[in-house]
Amino acid sequence: MRPPQAFSDRIRSEQTLYFPPGQHPDRATHCTAPLFVARRRAKQEGFELIEGSCFWAEPSGPTMQSSYESMRDEILDQLRAAMPVDGVLLGLHGAMVAYGYDDCEGDIIARVREIAGEKAVIGVELDPHCHLTEKRVRGADIVILYKEYPHTDFAERAEELVTLVVKAIRGDIRPVSSVYDCGMIDVFPTSREPGRAFVEKMKKLEGRDGVLSVSLGHGFTQGDVPEQGTRVLVITDNAKTRGDALARELGVEIREKRGVWYPPYLSYDDAITAAYAEPKGPVVVADPTDNAGGGAASDNTNIIRRLLERGMTDAAVGPLWDPVAVEFCHAAGVGETIPLRFGGKTAPSSGMPIDAEATVIGLVKDGKQSFGTAKVKFGDGAGIRVGGVEVALIAHRTQALGTEIFSAVGIDLAAKRYVGVKSTNHFHAAYAPIATKVLYCDGEGPSPLDARKYPFTKARRSIWPHAELPEGRIIV
Ligand SMILES: [Zn+2]
Repeated sequence: MRPPQAFSDRIRSEQTLYFPPGQHPDRATHCTAPLFVARRRAKQEGFELIEGSCFWAEPSGPTMQSSYESMRDEILDQLRAAMPVDGVLLGLHGAMVAYGYDDCEGDIIARVREIAGEKAVIGVELDPHCHLTEKRVRGADIVILYKEYPHTDFAERAEELVTLVVKAIRGDIRPVSSVYDCGMIDVFPTSREPGRAFVEKMKKLEGRDGVLSVSLGHGFTQGDVPEQGTRVLVITDNAKTRGDALARELGVEIREKRGVWYPPYLSYDDAITAAYAEPKGPVVVADPTDNAGGGAASDNTNIIRRLLERGMTDAAVGPLWDPVAVEFCHAAGVGETIPLRFGGKTAPSSGMPIDAEATVIGLVKDGKQSFGTAKVKFGDGAGIRVGGVEVALIAHRTQALGTEIFSAVGIDLAAKRYVGVKSTNHFHAAYAPIATKVLYCDGEGPSPLDARKYPFTKARRSIWPHAELPEGRIIV
């Protein structure tokens, strides 16, 4: 179950990220890297860049149709006003679903093509957790996905996108896409093997034998759309047969290693036992099942409750999304101990709220955490101590990316035995360096790792792990 659409998606976006033309900061954020990179390259290379609006929101349920259309049309109107153009750069996530639109990005790309014309070169950067649909690959000229998960390479991939789009505009290359559907869906961290080696392999293949770009579309396990699944995209310089063969070869490797890309995970009770069995902390334990980035509410209390029941000390857990509890803590002030109800609010899958005497140990207004070069808002925050457990409460729903989630609210991670983070793998970039060990657990939150547990109505059930592995095939 996902958080309800309690207020307009447009407001939800604006609270997270909304930059009208010209107001984008001079720093790349997760999905706006093409704008940031093109701004610098335009100055260096002497082309004219006309900027459009940027929107981004934390995943949850489907976007309201009117919200999607108003954001899309704002961008399309800007493009109409900018015409004629030689090319269009789009930084899109790739897993947006709105009421009436299963493929929002395919819809945007098709409408951009209508306005920009057949000759314009359309370049798109996508998150690998996208639905790499036929419509969007056919609609664009060049699609490049981040290779890393955690997504630390959004700016590097945007550089490549701008380079290839400029070359295509100048007629120096003729990009042709090949897409292989792996007939499966899986989760592919690149902070461990075999994902790490696969990224290096993709990079080595680029820039020779006519191969311009290689991407792996992981797919978005939580997206209930017909084309959900893992796909390989190869772009060649007008060498379709070679591109098809390479996409197939890479896709076969993905298929052969299905089920081993994501690390083994423990029950949350076993993860607590395993973490405290380590001679030295902090052991970082990720709970991917309550990851806001996967659409979860991030207010599940199972692990905090179990740590308290077992009398564990030197533990920290976060982020826990609870704007009301954050407000109470701010009203109380640092050092005060108050009776506080926190967490467990949005759905049965959140567990029950915890009622406790909580000591406020730190407060922050308009908190931000680091993710690569990006600063991601988590709103007001409060650190509380209940028994031996410290909890980072946040007002603006997001997953654990940077350690500021804790440090900004007075929680010292270096002194902990157990650090619980709500995240699937983005946490790894900032938290692995401070951890003596990293574990993954099933916190029994609303976003299970097992794709078979989702009550999907549109996603294909003919792919692995829903069914036996079907034949893979070239679809573009
Ligand atoms: Zn992603």
